[in-house]
Amino acid sequence: MPIYEYEPLSPEAGCDKCANRLEVIQGINEPSLSVCPYCGQRVKKIISWCRAAVVETPEEQTRVNKKIGEYEKEGMWSHAAELGDKHSEKIKDKNMKSRALENYKKAGYSVSSLEKHAKDT
Ligand SMILES: [Zn+2]
Repeated sequence: MPIYEYEPLSPEAGCDKCANRLEVIQGINEPSLSVCPYCGQRVKKIISWCRAAVVETPEEQTRVNKKIGEYEKEGMWSHAAELGDKHSEKIKDKNMKSRALENYKKAGYSVSSLEKHAKDT
């Protein structure tokens, strides 16, 4: 289910919850909130693609990171690399990307940029 964000119409009047942006999990067909369920202030839905992309990731990212860690522990470098590579593309995470490249290297993959890097060092 998507997570929607709301902010109070008058931020200074909002409570701790809504003044810092209220995140609500709602079905597509559920009506929008018009007031904060905690303090009753009038709220409006925030439409933000960037934020929408981010709110979905923490759980998934934790899961993926954990999985990559498991693969690394098992020495399954190509698995770790592929998972990290794919996921880093999705969430545009440079750290995960370089970790994936590192794992490709350990897996013995021939990655041109890595080869270049290896030669330089
Ligand atoms: Zn509130």
